[in-house]
Amino acid sequence: MSQGMAFPRDLTAQERSILDFILSHEWEGVEQVRAMLRDTRATGTCTCPCGSIALSVRPPNGKLVSRSPVPAEAVGYVEGVLITVILFVDEESAYLEIVWYDELPPRLPNVDELQTVEYRDGQLINFD
Ligand SMILES: [Zn+2]
Repeated sequence: MSQGMAFPRDLTAQERSILDFILSHEWEGVEQVRAMLRDTRATGTCTCPCGSIALSVRPPNGKLVSRSPVPAEAVGYVEGVLITVILFVDEESAYLEIVWYDELPPRLPNVDELQTVEYRDGQLINFD
């Protein structure tokens, strides 16, 4: 999907909307993560064409508070193919991972194809 494009590059509108969908949820440290990713750029991609992207971050103000992967995960079907979207973050980089299971998704999900699952201490706490 993103292969062949030079890095770093700006996020596509679709990539940004998937990231913002995850960041629209609330968890401990989310405001710091939002600030770190406010003007993030894609710095690399997965070796397979799943659409996962490595992201630049602005250094956090203080120690990183959020856990990683962040507790809000997106799940959905892209033309019938199940995927999960997980955001990893540390003080130097982040990674938006498109997790696929049996079949590679044909494209990135649109936000209206995603729902979120939120975990806390290993327990599912919210599904919307
Ligand atoms: Zn991949």
